[in-house]
Amino acid sequence: MTTVVWFRDDLRIADHPALAAAADDPGGVVCVYVLDEASAGIRPLGGAARWWLHHSLTALAASLAELGATLVLRRGPAGEEVPRVVAEAGADRVLWNRRYGGAEREVDAALKRELREAGLAADSLPGGLLHEPWTITTKEGGPYRVYSPFWRACLAAPPPARPLEAPDSLRDAAGEVRSDRLDDWELLPTRPDWAGGLAETWQPGEAAALERLETFLDERVDDYADDRDVPAIDATSNLSPHLRWGELSPRTVWHRATEPGRASAAFLGELGWREFAWHTLFHAPDLAERNLDRRFDAFEWAEPDAELVGAWQRGETGFPLVDAGMRELWRTGAMHNRVRMVTASFLTKNLLTDWRVGERWFWDTLVDADQASNPFNWQWVAGCGADAAPYFRIFNPLLQEKKFDPEGRYVGRWAPDSAGRMPIVELPFTRERALAAYARIRGS
Ligand code: FAD
Repeated sequence: MTTVVWFRDDLRIADHPALAAAADDPGGVVCVYVLDEASAGIRPLGGAARWWLHHSLTALAASLAELGATLVLRRGPAGEEVPRVVAEAGADRVLWNRRYGGAEREVDAALKRELREAGLAADSLPGGLLHEPWTITTKEGGPYRVYSPFWRACLAAPPPARPLEAPDSLRDAAGEVRSDRLDDWELLPTRPDWAGGLAETWQPGEAAALERLETFLDERVDDYADDRDVPAIDATSNLSPHLRWGELSPRTVWHRATEPGRASAAFLGELGWREFAWHTLFHAPDLAERNLDRRFDAFEWAEPDAELVGAWQRGETGFPLVDAGMRELWRTGAMHNRVRMVTASFLTKNLLTDWRVGERWFWDTLVDADQASNPFNWQWVAGCGADAAPYFRIFNPLLQEKKFDPEGRYVGRWAPDSAGRMPIVELPFTRERALAAYARIRGS
């Protein structure tokens, strides 16, 4: 038997169920990654994500090479490219770890059907979440809409499977299979190269991901609950892009973090939000387009104002915490969670701008942008999401700054000039305007 292992958002060799299942095939394995920008409904990657992908694929190819295997790169609709690779390799089986987005599931299901009809074996395995979304249900058998009972149900479920070891070696069967050159995909920005700050901040790849996890557990997890909301402190794990790209499995994080003696409940609860976002997307595949709370379909967003939105994107609003966050995002591809909430609230409430505008900007600029967590959190902040913050709770960016950056260290680092700028809007007026717009849909 020869197996094609199709890598997707799981760019790792440890705890990779598809790779582990194929590792002992006497006929060898063909490892393939398909850059699919063509299948219907698949959301094209943002700029920061393309940068990450380039480096993560480089790291994966090096890990596979150490085991004796080649990473084959193909570009095109996965439903066409994977069968081509199968034919070129003369393979008889295809394995992959599951994806949970609507369009991705359609692509995968169609491909599985087609391969099986052609007499090949095709199977999908769990690996991207702690619990498969359909295994966590309410008493009535439906999806959860509120986080706390969802997470309680996860904690009461059988614990996530133990992570699998990376294979010791692989027998490469990619011999005659054609591969693209990664550089030809032009995933890295060139004119201009805006990725300098990303490269200073991040080291994509599985080895760096595991190192980050260990450093966080050794040095920071005990203070996590107290410090996680303070953006000037490096208190959180910074694992989100590594989890996004599957360089590290959540099961690995879970089992390392639950070892005896670790004060990790608050941290695990955040992994729970990640699970909840994917659970929500699984049951609402149009999460990036449609308000979960349908009353918001009638919400009167302001006409898009390019000048105001541009000032928000560039971090030139005159509200220091907002500006610091937006500049951190542009420079590093990430933003502290507290500040993500403040900047998102400012856009949706003070600028009364449709959350989808902000979601798309984050999609393009975040290295951890994923199709569940990003729209899920935008909807949560905007007030139309699952278990959302009540709409009338509008963050005041100046009070948030006083509370969470009292010494101005975060603002001083990213936007020292902001306090001297003329604010682009007036807080009390925009707050009242947002509340009035909300009052018009409440009860509808
Ligand atoms: P930690 O505090 O160390 O948390 C551990 C892990 O839990 C994270 O790595 C992440 O995988 C998960 N997690 C934590 N908080 C959340 C959350 N609220 N929702 C989902 N998962 C969470 N996170 C993304 O991974 N991708 C996104 O595209 C994304 N977009 C966001 C957009 C907005 C408007 C907001 C308010 C939040 C968004 N988040 C997103 C959630 C959160 O801000 C990041 O996961 C977090 O800042 C990552 O830092 P960390 O790895 O140090 O997190």
